[in-house]
Amino acid sequence: MDYQFKAGGIPLLVSMPHVGTDIPDDIAARFTPGALDKPDTDWHLVQLYDFLQEMGASTLSARWSRYVIDLNRPPENTNLYPGQDTTGLCPLDTFHREPLYQDGQQPDEAEVQRRLAAYWKPYHDQLRAELDRLLHLHGRVVLWDAHSIASIVPRFFEGKLPDLNFGTADGASCAPALTETIAGLAQAHGGYTVAVNGRFKGGHITRHYGKPERGVHGIQLEMCQSTYMNETLPFAYRDDLAARVQPLLRQLTQAAADWTRQ
Ligand SMILES: [Zn+2]
Repeated sequence: MDYQFKAGGIPLLVSMPHVGTDIPDDIAARFTPGALDKPDTDWHLVQLYDFLQEMGASTLSARWSRYVIDLNRPPENTNLYPGQDTTGLCPLDTFHREPLYQDGQQPDEAEVQRRLAAYWKPYHDQLRAELDRLLHLHGRVVLWDAHSIASIVPRFFEGKLPDLNFGTADGASCAPALTETIAGLAQAHGGYTVAVNGRFKGGHITRHYGKPERGVHGIQLEMCQSTYMNETLPFAYRDDLAARVQPLLRQLTQAAADWTRQ
């Protein structure tokens, strides 16, 4: 399978497009040693969100590394943040501008198209099918796109990122009342800094599928990895930190699901 998927019973689908660490052999053979460390992975999110199954949420998580193809970029590879630096559909370098490919080994356009069909489309087909199923069952559904990133990445932002960054395409992907509910709970917690539609406004998944007028409310949470893990190799999960943030994540996702029933 090209992803891990579990169907749930409540109107909440959590997508994790950047947790994949597998790389097909023919691509791995052309990568640099630095690429094979996969430093830009959204590490450990499946573990961090391990309460979702008990909650009854549907979950979809990637198998393949974002270095193979980025599931949170549009298939036509347009820049999500015009005028700002970002990595593309098939990135050529890491967040810290280290090359991913050995000299001359970068994919050409035909290979990008092959990767779209082989690795990008299956995830999106499953995502769309599950949203349609939940929408049919419940009439309203929340799509929660779960991400994490190193808290300091000079290429993308100055200084340290807020701990919790909610993105709703500047309000287009999600009802304002739901965004206010979620951001309000995160702020009321008091233990983390919070931004809404700051540097991260939601990627392709949030923007493409989040259609409040259709009953699909898309919200992206980009969280600092410093809230639950070590940000340097070997990127260890930190139970002591995770134990603080996990109850909040559970509260937020539960509140999102509950909101659909109002
Ligand atoms: Zn991500």
